[in-house]
Amino acid sequence: MTRIPFIGGNWKMNLTPTAAVAFVQKIQPKLPPRSAVETVIAASPLFLTSMQAVQGDGPVQIAAENCFYRDEGAYTGEVSPKALRELAIPYVIVGHSERRKYFNETDDIINKKVQAVFKNQMTPILCCDETMGRFENGDRVSWAVGQVTAALRGVSATDASKLIIAYEPSWAIGTGHSAPSQEAEDGCYLIRQTVADLYSDEVADQTRILYGGSVTDENIKDLMAEPNIDGVLAGKASVNPAEFLKLANFE
Ligand code: PGA
Repeated sequence: MTRIPFIGGNWKMNLTPTAAVAFVQKIQPKLPPRSAVETVIAASPLFLTSMQAVQGDGPVQIAAENCFYRDEGAYTGEVSPKALRELAIPYVIVGHSERRKYFNETDDIINKKVQAVFKNQMTPILCCDETMGRFENGDRVSWAVGQVTAALRGVSATDASKLIIAYEPSWAIGTGHSAPSQEAEDGCYLIRQTVADLYSDEVADQTRILYGGSVTDENIKDLMAEPNIDGVLAGKASVNPAEFLKLANFE
């Protein structure tokens, strides 16, 4: 099975609506075609419609960084997955380590969000965190099995095969120290094995698995050469159009 490479940008709480529009206009003509590489930018809900307005037929896809697990109701300040669906947003990041750390998102909340995103015909980019402690203790297997299993509770095999999972060790995020490509490959391989055990080899073969954590134009080639790394989720390197273009044109 050939999995189309996925180059994702996670802008976090950066840029402004004006800068976001200029970014899309700048990168569109220089991106590879969507049939060769999927390029996706996850941005604040404040920017989504203005970015879509200048998106045209170009390859970049505009995604959301987060949403709530209920479609509507008295949840002040939350982002509705139903509203994102109406905007035709294809992907939503769920369970980023910053959501887990600063907003106390638990495995149970993340599982509800994964289900809500699928229910609204969108695809989650499910992030799995890994602390330095777990990594150093050789605790990776129970980590991968635990986080992925909890997030995918109640998710059908059909949905799981569309899923994007990002292996994002928190010891590599924003530190300037990416995991060496073999470590990143090992994390992604463990996640794929977990999906195979939960569903089947066939499903695991279709699920795209990304690495995230200090990805740059200098390390992307080595990361993308690994058999179980189907793409990247970049933070810092994604907020600059020239750098994002280098990631998208990694080949
Ligand atoms: P970074 O962030 O590339 O700045 O390390 C990655 C992420 O948080 O997804």
